[in-house]
Amino acid sequence: MLQARGRVVSMFLCSCENCQKVAGGGHSSVVLLPADAISVVGALKPFSRPTQSGATFTRHFCPECGTTLHAQSSRAPALRILPVGIFAGHNDWFRPNQLIFARSHPDWDLIADHLPRHQTYRPEKQG
Ligand SMILES: [Zn+2]
Repeated sequence: MLQARGRVVSMFLCSCENCQKVAGGGHSSVVLLPADAISVVGALKPFSRPTQSGATFTRHFCPECGTTLHAQSSRAPALRILPVGIFAGHNDWFRPNQLIFARSHPDWDLIADHLPRHQTYRPEKQG
């Protein structure tokens, strides 16, 4: 079981190929939270893989049912990435503000027209 409290840092959609495989569709829908905002009861199994950018990406999933509960990147160790689907039935609050990795987003996967799309990550803010 996972509990999350605290302020959401960001909400977005990701169409990287790994997310497509894990989500079983054209994108993942995720929430970014500070690491200390979540607590987990029970065992989780980690799976790490290198990313193209050289970071290490680790998913933590339930060893019983395989559901991914959260993930993290070595680039941002203070943050946790949660699939909004784990809050199924209680996630009306989800308001994604961008699509990242639009370069691999399939046309058949319809998303809101107004969402900004970034080829990879959102460019760093200037200044
Ligand atoms: Zn992704």
